[in-house]
This record gives sequence, structure tokens and C-alpha cells, in this order.
Amino acid sequence: MNRFEWTSARDLAAAVRAGSLTVADAMLTQSGQPGTSAVILKAGGIDLLDLMKEGLLNPRLVVNLRGVPELGRIVEEPGGALRIGAMVTLAQLAEHPLVRARYSALAQAAGQSASPQIRQVATIGGNLLQRPRCWYFRSLHHHCLRKGGEACFAFAGENQYHAIFGHNGCAIVHPSTAATALVAFNAKVELVSAQGTKRVVALEAFFLTSDADIERENDLKPGEILTTVVLQPSKPSVRSAHLRQGEQDSFDWPIADVAAVVDMDTDGICQRASVVLGAAAPVPHRAKGAESALAGKRISEDTARSAANAAIAAAAPLSKNAYKLPVFEALVTRTILSAAGRI
Ligand SMILES: Cc1cc2nc3c(=O)[nH]c(=O)nc-3n(C[C@H](O)[C@H](O)[C@H](O)COP(=O)(O)OP(=O)(O)OC[C@H]3O[C@@H](n4cnc5c(N)ncnc54)[C@H](O)[C@@H]3O)c2cc1C
Ligand code: SF4
Repeated sequence: MNRFEWTSARDLAAAVRAGSLTVADAMLTQSGQPGTSAVILKAGGIDLLDLMKEGLLNPRLVVNLRGVPELGRIVEEPGGALRIGAMVTLAQLAEHPLVRARYSALAQAAGQSASPQIRQVATIGGNLLQRPRCWYFRSLHHHCLRKGGEACFAFAGENQYHAIFGHNGCAIVHPSTAATALVAFNAKVELVSAQGTKRVVALEAFFLTSDADIERENDLKPGEILTTVVLQPSKPSVRSAHLRQGEQDSFDWPIADVAAVVDMDTDGICQRASVVLGAAAPVPHRAKGAESALAGKRISEDTARSAANAAIAAAAPLSKNAYKLPVFEALVTRTILSAAGRI
């Protein structure tokens, strides 16, 4: 790891004034070479330090956000919306009583990500903005398309952990497990620019497909800080669940994960469903076919299984990841049944 300077911002204005670059832009600028002048933000530092140790990122200055108090709170608004500061840790999210009661899929996703030690440090902002785990992307010796290179090595290579949907040019899967649940809840993110202006974006639109931008996973602009994740008020009729499947019983990213949010009337009929697949595509993948299959139906083993079939109908597995299809089929079925309180 190269030498770098370190500073701690004490408030949001100081953090914004630091004039940070996004990690994606810094990596593209330096193309793997040391000696960059980039200023980079640090939250928990789990992904950031990985990239620096891997030699993929060599910033001049790291700006620690840990001391910015307004980023570390969970606040319920008078109307019932929940505002989650970007520096709230995955452990805090998983344990928060309101998150557990009203947004249980999010509490489950956060509580099952990584290891207990990592969850104490990793923040929700950093989790959403972490870079992909594709092993060619993480290798200094593979200058692939996402790093500004000429080729993707995954299509003809080791693609067992890669995408089964939306892999146009690049087949990463989005690395954030919490994002699967947040997209299912139609969460929004608030971002403050270097000029101090705020923009609010639906998280689903904030993430970029490979078609939209093959070098960036999200629409964070240079100098911007993600300040808050906003969850809309939850109705008592809404229930949710998140389930994940690992390759083995270990503290590692899942090979498949699913969030389901269902709104059921008093007769048990599903009025609206949100079903999102993680570890499936370069962005959290909304399974629209599954959502339509559930609307207006009583949720049973049969309807959940039909929805699961619809969820994977348009999948296009690569040479080594067709095994994900039956995994997702089972996981979507179980997640829907769990959200509906049927298992
Ligand atoms: C063994 C292991 C297992 C893991 N398993 C999982 C898993 O199952 N699911 C999962 O989702 N993750 C998993 N992770 C990844 C881990 O959860 C993330 O690396 C972590 O959440 C990143 O958060 P952080 O606060 O450390 O971010 P940092 O590493 O500090 O930052 C990440 C990126 O976001 C930028 N950034 C951070 N905060 C802001 C902000 N507020 N505004 C603008 N930019 C910002 C930084 O500049 C950096 O580019 C695992 C990691 C390990 C090591
Ligand atoms: S899947 Fe994406 S990140 Fe991985 S090698 Fe291909 S272009 Fe690079």
C-alpha cells in the first residue's frame, strides 16, 4: 500500500469542501498507477482499504466521515418516513427496533451481510457504494472494460459468480445485499454536491446498468456525498422478508439473495408485491414477472412457485452459472412465502 494523507471531517460542510473524487473516477484516472492526486472519502473503510491494499487505488488524501454527527443517525419523520444516515452501520440497522418492525427485509439483509465484526464497522452508505467483487476487476493484472480496458474476461472465463440478467458487456453482480431490500422498499437516497445543493434519487435509478455506464455502478458525482437513505412510511398491511443463499456456510457474499415486500388486504389477497433479486445482475434486479404473478392473488405455495418461475423466465446464464436458476427458483418461492407469513 502506498503512503497517503489522512484527515477527519467534523461536519458535512468540511467533508464536502474536501473535493473528493469518486473511487470509480480515481481508478480510471490512475489506471492502476501510483501517485494520483485523488481525494477519497472513507466510511467504514472495509472496501476502500481492500482496493488500496490490492493496489487498485492510490489516493493522495483520505477523508474520514466517521466524525460527521448528522450522518450517523436514524430518525423517524412526523409522517412516518425513516431517514437513515449514511454512516449508520449494518449492525445498527439490523438491530434498530423500527427497522425490524416495519422493514424486516432490510433488517434481515443487513444482519446477514458479511461477518459480525464487519457489520460493526461497515456503513450503509459505503455498502451501497462498494465496488464489484468480480475477480478480474479485483486483479491488478486484468485491465478489463470496467477499469477502462478493452475486454471483459468473465464471458469466456470463470463466471460462476457472475450475472444471469443484464450482462451487456460486463457481467458483475451488484455487491450490496442491503440494496436488494432497499430497492424492494422503493428507497430513495439523498446526495449533497460540492456546491452544497441536495438531490434526491430513487435508489433503483441511482444504480447504473452496464448499458448506461460500464465503468460506474452508480450515479455518484465527483464531490458528492451520499448523506441519507430514505424509506417511505410503511403500512400495517405490508410485510416483507429477505433470504440469502451462500455457496457454503461462511461469511461471504451470497450467490443469490431475494427480497419480497407484499401488501395484503384483510382477505389475504396480495394487492401489490415487490420482488427483487440480488447477486443476479449488475444492479439489484426487479422481477417484474413475479410481481405481476402475485398481484390480485392469495399467496400460497402454488402462487409463490408460479411467481418464482416468472422471476427467472428471462434469465440468460453464462457458461458456468446456470446452477443459479434452481437456487433462485427455490429462494424466490421461500422468500415470498416467508413475507406472507406462510412459512
Ligand atoms: C469477508 C467479507 C464478506 C462480505 N460480505 C458481504 C455481504 O454478504 N453483503 C454485502 O453487502 N457486503 C459484504 N461485504 C462488503 C462490506 O459489507 C462492504 O465492504 C462495506 O459495507 C463497505 O462499507 P464501508 O462503510 O466500509 O465503506 P468504505 O469502504 O469506507 O467505502 C466504500 C466506498 O463508498 C465511498 N463512500 C463511503 N461513504 C460515502 C458517502 N457517505 N458518500 C459518498 N461516498 C462514500 C468510499 O469513497 C468508497 O468508494 C463483505 C466484506 C467482506 C470483507
Ligand atoms: S464482468 Fe465486468 S468487472 Fe468483470 S471482467 Fe468483465 S468487464 Fe470486468
